[in-house]
Amino acid sequence: MKIVGECKQCGECCRTNDQWLDNTDEMAEFAAARGWKVRQRGKLIQAEAIDVCPHLTKDNKCGIYENRPRYCAGYPHNIDLENCKKLGLDPNKLLPGCCGYRFVDE
Ligand code: SF4
Ligand code: SF4
Repeated sequence: MKIVGECKQCGECCRTNDQWLDNTDEMAEFAAARGWKVRQRGKLIQAEAIDVCPHLTKDNKCGIYENRPRYCAGYPHNIDLENCKKLGLDPNKLLPGCCGYRFVDE
C-alpha cells in the first residue's frame, strides 16, 4: 500500500485518534503531549482517551509546532502498515473520515 493525497489542515487528527500502536519512544512522547493515558499490552500501547489535543489552537494550528512530537511531524506517513497488517486493521480506518490522505493498493 502507499499513501496518496494531501493535508487539508483540518486539524481533525489532533482532535481524535484511536490507534493501536507500537510501543515506541515516539508514541510515548506523543501520548504525553496529548495528555493521554495509555494502556500497554505486550509490545503495543492503546490510547485510552479520544480527545482534543491541548496544543491545538482555535484556528487548527499546532501551538507547539516547532517542538511537536516526532509522531505528529511524521503523521500520517508514519502509520505502521506492517502493524496494521498484523492486527488485521485497515489503515484507512485509522485516518479521520475527513482526512485528505488515503491508503491505496500499489
Ligand atoms: S502536538 Fe500539535 S500536531 Fe500534535 S496532536 Fe497536538 S496540536 Fe496536533
Ligand atoms: S486529518 Fe488529515 S487532512 Fe486533516 S490535518 Fe490531519 S493529516 Fe491533515
